[in-house]
Amino acid sequence: MRVVMIGPPGAGKGTQARLLQERFGVPQISTGDMLRDAECRDTPLGREAHRFMSAGQLVPDEVVIGVVEERLQCPDASRGFILDGFPRTLAQARALEAMLERRGVVLTGVVEILVPQEELVRRLSGRLVCRGCGAMYHRDSNPSPAGAACGKCGGELYQRDDDRPAQIQARLTNLAREIAPVIGFYRASGLLRPVDGLGTVEDVFARITTGLG
Ligand code: AMP
Repeated sequence: MRVVMIGPPGAGKGTQARLLQERFGVPQISTGDMLRDAECRDTPLGREAHRFMSAGQLVPDEVVIGVVEERLQCPDASRGFILDGFPRTLAQARALEAMLERRGVVLTGVVEILVPQEELVRRLSGRLVCRGCGAMYHRDSNPSPAGAACGKCGGELYQRDDDRPAQIQARLTNLAREIAPVIGFYRASGLLRPVDGLGTVEDVFARITTGLG
């Protein structure tokens, strides 16, 4: 199973990717998680990524493509993967295609999770981020086990300026514009599987597995 998950923040992409990982025994590969981890460990990659991530910008294609290429060479990805947060640009989508072609494999499908904007605003306005390591929580659905502090590093949790309701709408519109070429690319190749992201986690998971056939 080789799957790409696409969806705005708050659509439940990470949750569904983890469920697919459990069901099919292939790793969830989240570029956001890998970059945050590198940031946390203060590696050269982490320091470079931090410049862009802290400004709310995409990390340059060549950096992220290199990270994914290396990760896909790990033995646990030989039977497949669930990519979460990659590709985000057309250049990344083309690079992924080339990587898979070199291995003589193809994508099983590209799952696009669809959630109406007002529901995303509701979900995202509860998000809290750690000032220390960038870990993310949600006031209601994923609270930190350490209360007002980060469960991973003990850092202070805060609400990002762009997670305030007034800012979220603008951010979602920008993100949708940014990902549109990638969606077009996969629609044209017949790989796109749009899935309704409303309902319980189990409902959405059932739709995804049906869509992937
Ligand atoms: P995420 O957790 O997927 O929202 O990613 C958090 C941040 O990591 C993004 O805002 C980007 O700065 C960076 N990032 C994650 N994935 C990518 C990607 N595929 N291309 C460029 N930047 C990325």
